[in-house]
Amino acid sequence: MNNLSRRQQHFDGVTYQPRLDFERLSNQLERVKAATLDTGWWTVPALTLAVGGSETSVSARLRDLRKQKFGGYHVESRRVKGGVWHYRVSKFARCIDCKQQIKHVGNNVWVDDTDGDCCFETNEIHRLNKKGDV
Ligand SMILES: [Zn+2]
Repeated sequence: MNNLSRRQQHFDGVTYQPRLDFERLSNQLERVKAATLDTGWWTVPALTLAVGGSETSVSARLRDLRKQKFGGYHVESRRVKGGVWHYRVSKFARCIDCKQQIKHVGNNVWVDDTDGDCCFETNEIHRLNKKGDV
């Protein structure tokens, strides 16, 4: 660790020098997004092979995709045998009340394509399963 590495952190969990690393990390974020968005379940090792970098940095980019500033994507995780985790990235999820496909538009607001943010079942806003199951 040197003084430069304590500069502003934009990518959480990664200490970096903005001038040197921003472009590299942004490109990795774009590659992770391009590879995973609506393409089903991925393991971190498989995704790392696909986009390059280290498994640690690829895991960090998956977490970044959840954040509003990086698009607020729906990033689900599920544990499969042997402690292996799978991840899936999407723009859409399914409401646990009305089962309608809904889209994340920010600030925990999920809307469908037909009636805005009103749930057919509850007449409240749509609700997303906290576990991320769809
Ligand atoms: Zn609903």
